[in-house]
Amino acid sequence: MKVLNLQCAAQHGFEGWFASEAEFQRQLAEGLLTCPVCGDHTVHKLPSAPRLNLNASRESASAVQTKRSEPHPVSASEGVDAPATNAQALHAAWLKLAREVVRQTEDVGSAFAEEARRIHHGEAPERGIRGQATVQETLALVEEGIPVLPLPLPAAAKETLQ
Ligand SMILES: [Zn+2]
Repeated sequence: MKVLNLQCAAQHGFEGWFASEAEFQRQLAEGLLTCPVCGDHTVHKLPSAPRLNLNASRESASAVQTKRSEPHPVSASEGVDAPATNAQALHAAWLKLAREVVRQTEDVGSAFAEEARRIHHGEAPERGIRGQATVQETLALVEEGIPVLPLPLPAAAKETLQ
């Protein structure tokens, strides 16, 4: 998102927000830019340093906001969740999920890769299993089209159940 300082022929200064410099040029060429004060179409760009707009991802790419130079738009802090609360909720949710995984799967230990392969090929009963596998073993399983998910199960997930 680019914020450009613009000025009309009557020297009203205002800001225009654009997805890019090219987008500004396109809208300028199509006469889509007008001065918010007097409606003048003769708009030109003042030399200015572009600013980073932290909310850019929420703006639609072609949206244009023309604003008066004062007051300054302040929107970067909107909708930012408090990080601590978020992390705690995330951890609780993750622990719950991990316990669910432990509850619904059979621990096959270091035989995981072999057992996953056997289940995939119908040589062992279809069921959820968990166990230890090396990165190489896990990658090999994935490449063979065997659905596995590397989950770093927290110790707490097992302790509370056993
Ligand atoms: Zn004007």
